[in-house]
Amino acid sequence: MSSTGPVISERVSMQDGAGGRAMRSLVEEIFLPGFESDQEGVIGLSAMDDGAAIRLGDRWLVLTTDSHVVHPIFFPGGDIGRLAIAGTVNDLAVMGATRVLGLTCAAIIEEGLPKTILRRIQRSIREACAEAGTSIVTGDTKVMGRGELDGIILNTSGIGMCERVVSDAGLHPGDRIIVTGSLGDHGMAVMAVRHELELDGDLESDVMPINDLIDAALRVGGSGIVAMKDPTRGGVASALHEMATKSHVGIVIAEVCLPVRAAVRSASELLGIDPLRIANEGKALLGVRPDRAADVLDALRHHPKGRDAAIIGECFAERAGSVVLDTGFGRRLLTEADGEPLPRIC
Ligand code: MG
Repeated sequence: MSSTGPVISERVSMQDGAGGRAMRSLVEEIFLPGFESDQEGVIGLSAMDDGAAIRLGDRWLVLTTDSHVVHPIFFPGGDIGRLAIAGTVNDLAVMGATRVLGLTCAAIIEEGLPKTILRRIQRSIREACAEAGTSIVTGDTKVMGRGELDGIILNTSGIGMCERVVSDAGLHPGDRIIVTGSLGDHGMAVMAVRHELELDGDLESDVMPINDLIDAALRVGGSGIVAMKDPTRGGVASALHEMATKSHVGIVIAEVCLPVRAAVRSASELLGIDPLRIANEGKALLGVRPDRAADVLDALRHHPKGRDAAIIGECFAERAGSVVLDTGFGRRLLTEADGEPLPRIC
């Protein structure tokens, strides 16, 4: 037992990779020490943002990396290849780097995996890259023995440039919170296939690169867009908690304004899982100055990927670091879960 810090388990648990509180403490306690640089012109590991940014002259080089272990490899609405591209492109985009200069892709493959599967994944990667206006420029391939991993793992890294970095910590009292579309689609679609749930309506992952959508918002909102984050593992609840904590504001969201598709709503009622806590792979949360919110919302809704965008909440000076859900009948604290309820969602 450590005499200086909280008691933590000495073995890694599934929660440590679930994208929530547990994972953040793992990173802070194990991976961050020695890398807490607050160097001028570098937004680094200690910022714990969607990616890093390094100043180059009057611009910023933004880079990020993601590993993808989703199970199953193919799911309604997408597959591990599309997911790998969207995940990395979207992390760059929510830092402000909507023009992606290039991506890397490393594949770790289990011996015995049919090459037809690799070809399908490659096609999907290619299509997603075309959609995001970028390309794979280098990569790496490793094969491990049968049973040493489950099928395939993809790691993608990406770089982009921008004039202004948008962090996830720039919120002020009065700012509006906009979500670019419906909540919980990815997590619920993967959960449904994993559990072989028979559900009414079509559950489909929202996995898509949205750098074009974010670009449309930034063109209209400019510096009025003060914070962005993609609500992946842990969903909107986790992402808003992080934004509220880092920005020292309280966030109140209105339940009635949350865009949730009927199929996701019924699945979440059946499973007793709040769509606010479920992963999205084609959505972003934007913090926008009040006088720019209507125009940004309008720009998003006029884009084919942002038709269901909505203003879902507002920031306050009170209750800094917390997220409150206004149900229409009353208000309650939206507590932060340990992360995604299902492992290997992305
Ligand atoms: Mg992210």
